[in-house]
Amino acid sequence: SVVVVGSANLDLVVSAQRLPGPGETVLGGDFRTVPGGKGANQAVAAARAGAACAFVGAVGGDAFGRQLRDGLVAAGVDVRGLRTADGPSGVALITVDAAAENCIVVAPGANATLTTLEPADRAAIAAADVLLLQLEVPPGVVAEAAAAASAAGTTVVLNAAPAAPLPGDLLALVDVLVVNEHEATIVAGDASIDALLRLVPRAVLTLGARGTAYGDRSGARVRVAAPSVEAVDTTAAGDAFTGALAVAWAELGAGAVEHALRWACAAGAACAERPGASVALPGRARIDALFHA
Ligand code: ADP
Repeated sequence: SVVVVGSANLDLVVSAQRLPGPGETVLGGDFRTVPGGKGANQAVAAARAGAACAFVGAVGGDAFGRQLRDGLVAAGVDVRGLRTADGPSGVALITVDAAAENCIVVAPGANATLTTLEPADRAAIAAADVLLLQLEVPPGVVAEAAAAASAAGTTVVLNAAPAAPLPGDLLALVDVLVVNEHEATIVAGDASIDALLRLVPRAVLTLGARGTAYGDRSGARVRVAAPSVEAVDTTAAGDAFTGALAVAWAELGAGAVEHALRWACAAGAACAERPGASVALPGRARIDALFHA
């Protein structure tokens, strides 16, 4: 099974011909709300990919919080570790222009209240195969979760997004680091497997439509091409990839890395084929179909 400790945001999305400048008002088009946040997205990705998945996070005591909770439950995610905090849920205010360029402000809201784990969260982490982390909740709880996993022999997978330099005490607890090229540059100074392996024992570098690269300190190097798809919207492709990688790692362990990477690439590609972010996260049947294509 997989446990995710991370963020849940409601994306408030409006389309407009062009993005407004400072002090300017532009008339927008359709408005929609979409469940998001890297933590919740990766939990939904893992559940749709077929794993038993639990999410530890926090939403607000508002209507957005209920919508976020309902979305996780509908995807089959175990939400016993989802707190309801006083105050607002995390939101992302997103404006998208006609060329699909966007402008985003994130208000962390309840995510900022996730500062520590409960005993039940630590027990869930200890019983899981994989703990999956990102960097959208306070660093203290990320480190606490990684330490709980490490002590129990649960594999720690860290998706270092949004990109930030990583403290040494956290790095020492990470088994598998997953980053895209931009994140790798910020985390390791260079978008290369060799640079990442100076920080962690196993590293996965996602390369968009080019697929992914993997390396570990035993000297293994793997390169996997992404399945060729008609990409219409690559938002959340990284979340689909990371969620599926955690599932494959939980099911097959470190001995089947190439299989896990190919399967995760199929999940990322399947997400890129469909419009939208969390709504485009693929189910196991679609991942398997692209994997075997
Ligand atoms: P992020 O979304 O975090 O920037 P990437 O763009 O590297 O991450 O995408 C993550 C994974 O999703 C890639 O490794 C690849 O497997 C898949 N993917 C992304 N874009 C495409 C695409 N255009 N065609 C096929 N697969 C894609």
